Amino acid sequence: MRKKIVAGNWKMNKNLQEGIALAQELNEVLTADKPNCGVVICTPFIHLAKVAELVDHSIINVGAENCADKEKGAYTGEVSAEMVKSTGCEYVILGHSERREYYHETPEILKAKVDLALANGLKILFCIGESLEQREANEQEAVCKAELEGSVFHLSAEQFANIVIAYEPIWAIGTGKTATADQAEEIHAYIRKCVADKYGAQVAEDTTILYGGSCKASNAPELFAKPDIDGGLIGGASLKAADFKGIIDAFK
Ligand code: PEP
Repeated sequence: MRKKIVAGNWKMNKNLQEGIALAQELNEVLTADKPNCGVVICTPFIHLAKVAELVDHSIINVGAENCADKEKGAYTGEVSAEMVKSTGCEYVILGHSERREYYHETPEILKAKVDLALANGLKILFCIGESLEQREANEQEAVCKAELEGSVFHLSAEQFANIVIAYEPIWAIGTGKTATADQAEEIHAYIRKCVADKYGAQVAEDTTILYGGSCKASNAPELFAKPDIDGGLIGGASLKAADFKGIIDAFK
């Protein structure tokens, strides 16, 4: 059975003290009322070591929001996959549309990041998804397939087992506009088919595919009830423990 996961992406929010307080609160509420799914919190680099130290990793895993495309050396301001791993965290988000768009991360750059993350024992939340313009041109399938082919389909099946795919239509991120459960299911099923075509039916069956884009406690149950939607990658609603817990509880 593939893993169900609710993952939070704090983005560039929370100073160190606020982030620690949020992680502590989440750890307390989820210890008291255990989740029925995997939970991951992805934080800015500055929080990682502290958050990884304070959470119970049998309940909450921790992830970074990015890592460098270079192994080590004279790259001022960059944080390598090895450094991320050394904080005690387990995951890294790669391919987020904000990094593709604002920081010009190409499929080749992402491929290098994917390889370094895996070489350092990190699991990857790999984001794909179309823009509004591409959706209106009915290009969502081609876009998702190309993003997989460009950065993760060079992996062996064994390596691919460490990839969680997050389908995030760009037009739904932070906009309050959610894809309908049927719209999301349609493309999730297509993404799973792409994985099956590449790696076979069993790998596709075992691959966790998350939905991301204005997901909240009110729409999570309908989305997560779909057969090919295995949980969510949550931005805005991961910044308050009660909101995030509300989404996690969709699996109860
Ligand atoms: C995201 O950026 O990964 C995301 C899903 O954001 P939001 O939930 O705020 O739309």
